[in-house]
Parts: sequence; structure tokens; C-alpha cells
Amino acid sequence: MRNSSRAFHVQVAVPVPVRQTYDYLTGGPVTTGTRVLVPFGRRTMVGIVVSNLDATTGFRLKPVKRVLDTRPALGQTMLKLLQWASRYYHHPIGEVLNTALPARLRTANQSENPDEETVYRAAPGLEPAVIEKSLGRAPRQKLLYDLIASYGWCSPGQIKAHDSGVANVRGILAALMNKGLLECRQRPAKTPDTEHTPLEASLTREQQQAIDSITACLGRFSTFVLHGITGSGKTEVYLHIAQSCIRLGKQALVLVPEIALTPQLVARFAQRFAAGVCMIHSNMTAQQRYLSWCNARSGRASVVLGTRSAIFTPLKNPGVIIVDEEHDISYKQQDGFRYHARGLAIKRASLSAVPVVLGSATPSMESMRNVDAGRYQLLRLSRRIGSARLPEVMLVDTKIFPLYQGLSAPLLEAIRYGLERQQQTILYINRRGFAPIVQCGNCRWRAGCDRCDAFLTYHQHTNTYRCHHCGKIIRAQTDCPECHQTIFYAGTGTQRIEKVLTQQFPKARISRFDRDRITTQKKLVQALHDINRGSVDIVIGTQLIAKGHDFPGVTLVGVIDPDRGLYSADFRAPEYLFQQLVQVAGRAGRSENPGRVMIQTAHPENPCLHLIQNQNFDRFYQYCARERETAGLPPFGYLLLWRAESTSATAGLKFLQFVSRIGRNLVKSNQLTDIAVMDPVSSPMEKLAGRYRAQLLVTAAHRKALHTLVSCWLEVVEKSPESRQVRWSIDIDPMEMF
Ligand code: ADP
Ligand code: ZN
Ligand code: ZN
Repeated sequence: MRNSSRAFHVQVAVPVPVRQTYDYLTGGPVTTGTRVLVPFGRRTMVGIVVSNLDATTGFRLKPVKRVLDTRPALGQTMLKLLQWASRYYHHPIGEVLNTALPARLRTANQSENPDEETVYRAAPGLEPAVIEKSLGRAPRQKLLYDLIASYGWCSPGQIKAHDSGVANVRGILAALMNKGLLECRQRPAKTPDTEHTPLEASLTREQQQAIDSITACLGRFSTFVLHGITGSGKTEVYLHIAQSCIRLGKQALVLVPEIALTPQLVARFAQRFAAGVCMIHSNMTAQQRYLSWCNARSGRASVVLGTRSAIFTPLKNPGVIIVDEEHDISYKQQDGFRYHARGLAIKRASLSAVPVVLGSATPSMESMRNVDAGRYQLLRLSRRIGSARLPEVMLVDTKIFPLYQGLSAPLLEAIRYGLERQQQTILYINRRGFAPIVQCGNCRWRAGCDRCDAFLTYHQHTNTYRCHHCGKIIRAQTDCPECHQTIFYAGTGTQRIEKVLTQQFPKARISRFDRDRITTQKKLVQALHDINRGSVDIVIGTQLIAKGHDFPGVTLVGVIDPDRGLYSADFRAPEYLFQQLVQVAGRAGRSENPGRVMIQTAHPENPCLHLIQNQNFDRFYQYCARERETAGLPPFGYLLLWRAESTSATAGLKFLQFVSRIGRNLVKSNQLTDIAVMDPVSSPMEKLAGRYRAQLLVTAAHRKALHTLVSCWLEVVEKSPESRQVRWSIDIDPMEMF
């Protein structure tokens, strides 16, 4: 036996935009999913082993420099999921795998032993006077020291769970260590005690049924759509399911669209499961995210709660995957590896044999279509909790009640009525700034962005014009640059509404809730707190306010200007509008006082508005489904979008013309039916931040044929010199068309 000289041979995926893996030599077999450091061209890169080949070949392969993991960074299920995703989204495997790794592991860091944690205790044998002296002028250190001294050995996680109000626990621990007041050691990580606050004991019948159906499926794959109207207790259902998983020693993975916009859901999970919850989102440092990742992987965390990319978190014992607000577009990654986290959640659940729950008040057309087809099971929560009822929705015809500075007389009257009764109002307008139109009254000149095909918005507070697409800011002018006559500001944004209301209701406490004012997580939490405490009468908000918040004091919701959403080029616009309006309307009347919603519109006859008025989701779904089925649009057909951009005005279009010729030839030569390769066009917003954009849409009746086409298509395009002249990408199942 010449075992020692036998060379092993691994295939490694490297994070480069190339659709292949590379072969290297190793001293022995390496488990797939393991990170290795490899020479790549003149560089050294971190790659991932995707297969072991036993055969020794005549090629002169380079050896890997170092094996970085003792335990593979990507487990077998995760690896399978990502390989599937790479094929489905036609994205290079090396980049897909790299996306799934926490940032800390994308470099040659040795992975830590996640099964151990550092614990601290007060250093024994110190004189009280010594302690007193070194902590005398450090109140936060003293607070933490006293906590630890009363506790014995404890981990930073346990300390944080105590909610002492002290921020930067790790920093203070380090300071206390430096002063010699603490000692530390490593200990094997334990699953923390998770049963804390009791769950809601008296579930509604619908909640109980939903929970029973889902828990009956723990341990096997099944997809549920939990369609629950706003305030019907979906979160309570999630909590119960998570609890059932934990009792079985399993973990729950919960995805939310944006952590910042769902502080209440996060808080409820954190309250119930305390130290057992770990978070994964973009407001965390790479190290924090890595620790969460380790806790999820070791099984120490019972609930993993995060945004889109949290779908890549490893779980030791997966029990259930929950996707809250499953219709939300933020689940779709809009650049690089353009995955949809809902799609990956379903695939992952099937690979792990666990149920997946898609919750929403307005489920996506895609999910409802799957319900119709019998693939997903529909669960309904059709009533609000307690005495709360859905608000009454009125349409205010602005042809009959003209707008004064964006507001109609009936809406103003309703606000006044609420103010007199100390009830709160939300005014929803999805447009920041003061006025979206900056124009000359004489020559009709209009202020536009020179880097985008977009007009500038006037911001009164800063006296500037701003582009909401590229962020460009210029000083406001008084005269028209063309004819020197006076410029006027038309149209309505949050700032204008704020100004009018201040004039109309000088005593009212008004709060503006948009990205110009709510710039940090802290301000968001503060603003939400103010509303809930009742120290605000009127809230003027963009869609920041529309999501999941629970405001018991709000009885009136005014929708200022939904009309832009009614007549948009995007075929999904009615669906998005319905979702938005149901969400905002859902903010009203969540406790005993009945709620009212007033929608101002110049098009009260629009069928979409009618269905919103009746809050009839099923009929709305049927209405949209008919339109889409006729047009062969998703979810009844499949889309692929090629995008190209360049600083030259024509290069993108020219490239896509080349691409479309190849595509059409392939369709013909492969005899693919029901596939249409459209003509390339400039994107609806052609110029963005100084780059010209073009797109090419492909529609198909069957997914399989589309995938066959794309594989050959990419191969030809990528070999061409043309493909190196512009920046381009493909998007499978695109959600946005601009
Ligand atoms: P959704 O997520 O569907 O909007 P929530 O889960 O936030 O609804 O529930 C709305 C409110 O009702 C919350 O304040 C929640 O604590 C409360 N709630 C939920 N289920 C029950 C129940 N069975 N009994 C009493 N209150 C409940
Ligand atoms: Zn002019
Ligand atoms: Zn711009």
C-alpha cells in the first residue's frame, strides 16, 4: 500500500463570476462544505469544497494551501439548497456559496469553536474597599459588576437578557477584566432556558385550528399560507408554533421583511423566548452576526429571527420556517445573486423535512396560486381579536371635494372630529419632501436630475431640491434658470401636509414619520413609543408607518394620494397598492374604538379601489388572477429579465439586441414552444445615477423550457466579446421592472 503518496483531488467553488468549479489537490478527502484557502491566479482565495474525486489524473493540479474548517462551514442540507439555488437562479456557484457565508467566514479566519462560550464571574477574594475604589466613578461598570457578582458564572448573553439598561455589555466586560475584577473561562455552551412569559392562554378557534394544523405536520415538509387579516393574531400563532418546536428540542427560523419596521414582533419573540432568540440583520456588526450564526448552528438558539439573508443561517435541529409578511418585496434580493428568500425557505423546508408557514394579510398572487393548485394549504384568521372590527373604508371623490393643499374637506373634518375626542389619526402619503413638482409658471421648465430620468422634489426644511433616486441634492432657487420668472411648487409630500395641518390645527401634536426624519433605529423606536403613549395626535407617514405596527389609539387613517399606484406601467402595481392600503387601513381601530379609513381619489370608479373598499381579498385575488392569466403573466407564466447598463447611451441596447438574436435562434433550434423573447427596450427609468439602462423581457408558459433556454443562452453570451463591454445581469422571476 502506498497510501501516503496517494493524492486526493477536490472540486472547489471560488467566489468569482464564473460558472465552474476548480480542482485542487489535498492530502486526504475533505468533507464537502468545508472552506479551503486556495491559490487562484495570482491571488489566494477562500473557496468551498463541493465534491471529492478519488481519481488521480494526469493534470498537474495545485494543492490547497490550508483547510480552514474543522467542521464544514456549510452543512450538507445548506450545500444542497445552495446548489439548487445556483441552478435555479443561474448564478455562479462560487458567488452563491459566498453569499450564504457570514462575512467573518468569507476571509481566511479560522472558524471558532461554536460549542463553547466565554463565561465570567467576580474575581474571588477581593477586598470590598478595593472594588469600591475601582468602581467608584464608573456607575455602569458597577451595575454590571454587581449583577455578575450576584449571579456566579454567566455568559454575556445571560447578562444581556437581564435588561439592566446597560449598553455595550462586551465593552464593559472588557473594562472589568482589565481592572482585574472579573475572571473568565470557556465552558461548553448550553441551550438557555427558554420558557419565560406564558403564551396567550385563550386562543381563538381559528388560531387554535391553524396551530393544530401546523403542529400536526412538525417533522415533515408541508407549506402553509396563513392568511390572517390585520390584527387577527398571526404573531400569536407563530409564537405557539415556535414553542411547540422548542418543546421537541427543535429550532424555529423566522423571517421578517425588515427588523427596523417590525420592532413589536421582535419584542414579542424576545419577551417570550428571552436568551433563546438570536437575531440576524444588517444593523449588526459582522462579529455579532457571526455569533448568532454560531448559536444557531450549535443549537443554542431556539429561535433565529432575521431578514432576507437569515434564510442561510444553519440550524442544528430545524423544526419550522416562518416567513412573516410573505408578500413583501424586500424578500427579493435586487442585485448580485437575485434570490427570493420565500422561494429558498420553501426549498429549504422540503430538504429538511419541516413545515414552512407563509403569513400575510395579503398573501402574494404566487402563493395563492399554489393554494389553488393544491400545493399549499390555506389557513385563515378571518376575525380580529376581541371586540376590534375591521375599519369602515370610504372613498372621497376629489372631483366633488377638491383638494386644498392635498387635503379634502371630508378628511379635514374627520381629523377635527378625532382631535376633539383625543383619538389619533394616521395620514398616509408615500412621498417624502414638500412638493414633487418644481416648475416655472411661465415657460413650464421643470427641475430634473441631470444624472437620472427623474424630477427633483422640493424639501422645505433644508430648502433644497433632491433626487429620490440617486440622492443628489442642490440648493433651491427662486427664479427659473430659463426665463427668470418665479418658480412654484406643486404636488404633495409629507412636509407639505405637515405644514397645512400645523396651520389648520395649531394645537395638534403632529409627527412626521418618513426617512428624512426617522434616520436611525433609535428615532424609530422613540417615534413609535410616542405614538403608543398618546403624545402624538396626528402622524404623517410614508410606508415606514404602514407595516405591522400595532397602534391601539388610532381610529382614523387618511390615504392622501393612492392614484399614482393605480395607473402604473408595472403589472404588479394593483397588487402592491392593495397590499399597501390593506396594511395602512389595518392600523385603524385595533382596539375597542371603531376605525375609519378615508381614501382620497380622483378615480372612485376604479375596480381595484372598490375591492379595497370592501376589503375583499378573495375577489381581489380573482380579479388580478383573471387579468394575469389572460396575459400569461406570473403566477400563470414565468418571466426572465436581462438587464444591461452602461455610461454610453446605446451600448446596453445594442448588447441586448445581440442577446435577443441569440435567444430567438435558440428557441427555434431547440423547438421550444410558448416562449417569447421580446424586443430590448430602454428601462422605464432609462438613466439612473449617470448610467443608461436597458432590459430584455422573456416570457414563458413553462418553467422547464425557460430553464433549458437560459442555460444554453448564457453559455453562448458569456463566451462572446460583446458580453465584456457592458455591465449586465439576468433576473429569474423579477419582481421589479425598472
Ligand atoms: P397580527 O399579527 O395578525 O396583526 P397580532 O398577533 O399582532 O395580529 O395580534 C393582535 C393583538 O391581539 C396583539 O396585541 C396580541 O397580543 C393580541 N392577541 C393575539 N391573540 C390573542 C388571543 N387569543 N387573545 C387575546 N389577545 C390576543
Ligand atoms: Zn421659466
Ligand atoms: Zn438622480
